[in-house]
Amino acid sequence: MADKPYRPATLLVHQGRDRDPATGASTVPIYQASTYHHAGGASAQYDYARSGNPSREQVEEAIALLEGGVRGFAYASGMAAIGSALSLLKSGDHLVASAALYGGSWRFITGVLPQQGITVSLVDTTDTRAVETAITPQTRALFLETPSNPLFQVTDLRAMVAIARQKNLITLLDNTFMTPLMQRPLDLGIDISIHSATKFLGGHSDILAGLVATADTGLGKRLKYFQNAFGAVLSPFDSFLLSRGIKTLKVRLEAAQATAQQLAERLASHPAVARVWFPGLADFPGRALHFSQASGAGAVLSFELQEDAQVARLLNAVELPIIAPSLGGVETILTHCWSMSHAAIPIEDKLRQGISKKLLRISVGLEDIEDLWEDLERGLS
Ligand SMILES: *Cc1c(COP(=O)(O)O)cnc(C)c1O
Repeated sequence: MADKPYRPATLLVHQGRDRDPATGASTVPIYQASTYHHAGGASAQYDYARSGNPSREQVEEAIALLEGGVRGFAYASGMAAIGSALSLLKSGDHLVASAALYGGSWRFITGVLPQQGITVSLVDTTDTRAVETAITPQTRALFLETPSNPLFQVTDLRAMVAIARQKNLITLLDNTFMTPLMQRPLDLGIDISIHSATKFLGGHSDILAGLVATADTGLGKRLKYFQNAFGAVLSPFDSFLLSRGIKTLKVRLEAAQATAQQLAERLASHPAVARVWFPGLADFPGRALHFSQASGAGAVLSFELQEDAQVARLLNAVELPIIAPSLGGVETILTHCWSMSHAAIPIEDKLRQGISKKLLRISVGLEDIEDLWEDLERGLS
């Protein structure tokens, strides 16, 4: 079915291999095996599970199809996906990356890459001129995140692709917040789309997983080489859970997005709230650009309270959300970015990025909107 141009909802459910070729079972089994018999000494389709496993290949084919790519790869976490994709860089290379990055990406890019002899410039990628200025003769890649987390700064992907093509750079985009349902970066010319599948794709806060897709056959071969060499592959069991999560992505994300829209509007008019960031709000600054490259606002929003002291009161009062550094689950997740998702980022950098102690992020789940609102309102009053 990989050759037919099915629409996203269909691809989510069928994923390229929706039944077990060996038995016709309705789901691809958890192939819990580390190695494969070499009949007569010859290696057949499968050889050793780090190099290939049917359970993992199902989600790898799924992400390639969903992103409109030719190859997909599954890793043990989003960070393993990011680290493996950035293995494309070598000592002496220079990377330009968005300054507003997920905390773990920030840690990897500023803490690990320099140790490998790769220099890094963090720039405000919403400023196209700043990106051009940061590029040196050694620059080999652009690492982007849009909308950024937690303040939803929007980077112009078409402009980034134009610069990258002119300078012969590899473009990588962390597409975790939008998922391939709402943003298809490979269609816009981005080379590599990366996901923390721990979030919306898995969708149930029960696995860590990372996915990568590319539409470039040459890059696909190199990514395959690094995936096997590095070895941070997704386990058969977690591949099964991820495949199961992906099947319901559309209904989950659309329902959560509708609730997020209403919560954003209600929060924006609540007196205890100073400001709300959500691309679905009519007066959101990056709205037009965001909707020129994405088809939805997503299901995550951020808001800033009027006073520091309100944060502790809210976190103590709410009952429904899990208070944690994650997003994209069926349950609503409330994050204090300062101390959780962005804890790895030094205070000065957080403040420069506009992340204050009064900032909270909500990943909206599938609860009833009125229950969520009553819970939040109690915490805000
Ligand atoms: C969570 C997250 C990551 C890291 O993924 P893990 O699965 O936690 O390793 C990377 N990017 C973004 C945007 C994330 O939200």
